[in-house]
Amino acid sequence: MIHEASPIVISGPSGCGKDTIVTKLREMDEHISLAVSATTRAPRGEEVDGLDYYFLSREEFEKRIENDEFIEYVQYNDNYYGTLRSELTRLANEGKKCVLVIEVKGAANIIARYPDCLSIFVMPPSMDELDRRLHKRASETEDEIRKRLRIALDEIKRAGQYKHVVVNDDLDATIEEIHKLIVGG
Ligand code: 5GP
Repeated sequence: MIHEASPIVISGPSGCGKDTIVTKLREMDEHISLAVSATTRAPRGEEVDGLDYYFLSREEFEKRIENDEFIEYVQYNDNYYGTLRSELTRLANEGKKCVLVIEVKGAANIIARYPDCLSIFVMPPSMDELDRRLHKRASETEDEIRKRLRIALDEIKRAGQYKHVVVNDDLDATIEEIHKLIVGG
């Protein structure tokens, strides 16, 4: 059977900890699963195709846009990122709560489509802390980090479009708070 349940949208600036949060949520609750996005950016570190992202060439991504395979997609930092419709139906059919970890413009499109969906913005405690976390991760160049910090400022301005804003000061407390929002909602 094919059905489309309302997804859970989680956003936050690059380096705010949202990927770690979602990994932990999935470990602690088997009903929570992540929609794997497609992207044209190159794999980073240990990232695995089909698990972290579907890594596509620009050509492949654009073909899928033409075929209307995305529920939303954006250009972010010179690359395409998008949520495949097939991911939502796959997870809904598995009976899972489907979490989308996406940036603010894509999130706005999802929220417009599913006005009642649970949406959460993960806020870093401060810009200094975000800067420190991005440097600690050491996966991007200095130039890339500067770009991501600039984007972060714009993203924070759009935190008001989400139903909930959670400040990730203490990771365990943040995970707990988000889990409560998901199971209670
Ligand atoms: P990163 O390159 O750090 O993995 O991701 C960059 C940004 O793109 C992050 O904010 C991430 O949440 C967002 N992103 C990842 N997948 C998608 C997607 O499918 N759609 C949208 N709109 N943003 C995405």
